[in-house]
Amino acid sequence: MEILRTPEQIAPYLADTSGLHDAHCEAVYRPERIEEIGDVLAAARRRGVGVTLSGAHTATTGAALPYGGVLLATDRLDGLGPIEVAAGAEGRAHLSVEAGVRLATVQRAAAAAGWLYPPDPGESKATLGGNLSTHAAGKHGFHYGPSRRWVAGLTVILADGDRLELTRGGCVADENAILPLTTTTGRRIDVPLPTTPPPPVKHAAGYLGGPGRDAIDLFVGAEGTLGVIASATLRLAPAPEETLAGLLFFPNEASCWEAVVAIRDRARGATGPIEERWGTTILEYLDPLAVDLLRPELSPLPAGAAAVMVEQPTSRASTTARLAEWQEVTDALGGCDGAHIWARTAGEKEALAALRYRIPTEMNATIARTGLRKVSCDMAVPDARLLDYLHGARDLLRDGGVRAVGFGHIGDNHIHYNLLPEDEGELARARAVYDQLVDLALNLGGTVSAEHGIGKLKRSYLARMVGEAGIAAMRRTREALDPDGLLCPGNLFR
Ligand SMILES: Cc1cc2nc3c(=O)[nH]c(=O)nc-3n(C[C@H](O)[C@H](O)[C@H](O)COP(=O)(O)OP(=O)(O)OC[C@H]3O[C@@H](n4cnc5c(N)ncnc54)[C@H](O)[C@@H]3O)c2cc1C
Repeated sequence: MEILRTPEQIAPYLADTSGLHDAHCEAVYRPERIEEIGDVLAAARRRGVGVTLSGAHTATTGAALPYGGVLLATDRLDGLGPIEVAAGAEGRAHLSVEAGVRLATVQRAAAAAGWLYPPDPGESKATLGGNLSTHAAGKHGFHYGPSRRWVAGLTVILADGDRLELTRGGCVADENAILPLTTTTGRRIDVPLPTTPPPPVKHAAGYLGGPGRDAIDLFVGAEGTLGVIASATLRLAPAPEETLAGLLFFPNEASCWEAVVAIRDRARGATGPIEERWGTTILEYLDPLAVDLLRPELSPLPAGAAAVMVEQPTSRASTTARLAEWQEVTDALGGCDGAHIWARTAGEKEALAALRYRIPTEMNATIARTGLRKVSCDMAVPDARLLDYLHGARDLLRDGGVRAVGFGHIGDNHIHYNLLPEDEGELARARAVYDQLVDLALNLGGTVSAEHGIGKLKRSYLARMVGEAGIAAMRRTREALDPDGLLCPGNLFR
């Protein structure tokens, strides 16, 4: 195990994109074997200090930043098993990974064998331990859903060093929402789960509970507060033979929003394998300001044009037919004739991805010039309230008077509005607008975090969403597993 103690060695572990400052810890422990996790936890327990967990530090909420105690980085636990295809069950394969395996490694291993690991939060250097702890989703979430459903098994080391070997379906909460866990030493822990149902949207804010809840779904998304994820067995999906990627333009926001709802509802309503029918695995939004960032490289478009990105899985035999169907759909929805970009070859897809990548890059460059930080939204609302949210958000952003670029996972009713303040006064206004957007999402039955989690940055919003009783229920869950609050102190609640 590597142990880092000097300020220079520790410094890289004290920053993420949250903009939170003053993180500090005594030492960073980097185990190379799962057994070493227990040693770090035992030493911290004896000394009564907290243990913050980290992977690649790409979280956006300060979740992996330590404020005292020690940091346990699982990024050197990089064991990767072979892909195992279930006998006689075409379309089912599993891959075992230790917590520090990078998302890019998983994606490469799966693709080389004709499979796909769908959760793709964009940061391919992120670790699977971090991805699962934040219940990461990303662009494929529209069709494939976020992380939980792709986890078939988990090995978790509890704060007291005891171990859980969980397989999906092996341990579920009873009718009173009590989860009867048994550790590998035979100890039984009855864990009371929260009972308030989560909002009916993509959701990554706090613990999932309720009767029938699978133990795996409690630890995925717990932001490191309930146990250390040491390894996981991931489910893989069959990779399509080919894909057709498209960037589709509409003359204004209103026509684009109507098109989104039509595409979303038609795609969700379709049945049968997606390669054999019209559909899309991603439905991503570029608002007019995001389109403006790309304008120099686009065909002429009306002022105020907005866009969506889609990706249709196909087979070699069906790509042309699927493209024709998409062209019919976009024409019927009033798309900007002749402006759409379709990518079929690897080179065309790379060029399209590079174009899309310019949006965050340009935004980051803009904000870097000011020395301030952007204020990024992660709220989502139920399907039926998407248009209410879009109209409400547009009004709040206009009244706030701070430049804001909106893009992201509109198929999940989840848009990352990025407010880009120019000075301290605008930063204060951006925070006030963010606050109003949180209220808007909650009033529409949504969530304060759809995929980035709560960390240390958004604790007050979690409390606003679930109320005092909800926080108290989550505390009871935590106390059953980590009574001294050793793991990731400060994440989710103080
Ligand atoms: C530019 C950018 C774009 C992004 N886009 C998306 C997106 O589209 N969708 C999306 O979902 N996310 C997105 N993210 C955030 C994404 O969730 C994180 O990047 C990733 O999931 C965290 O992985 P990590 O290894 O960096 O974990 P870290 O940041 O190191 O840690 C994240 C959390 O996991 C916990 N943790 C880490 N390892 C373990 C472990 N072994 N056991 C228990 N807990 C552990 C930490 O304590 C912390 O709470 C984006 C981030 C960036 C910077």
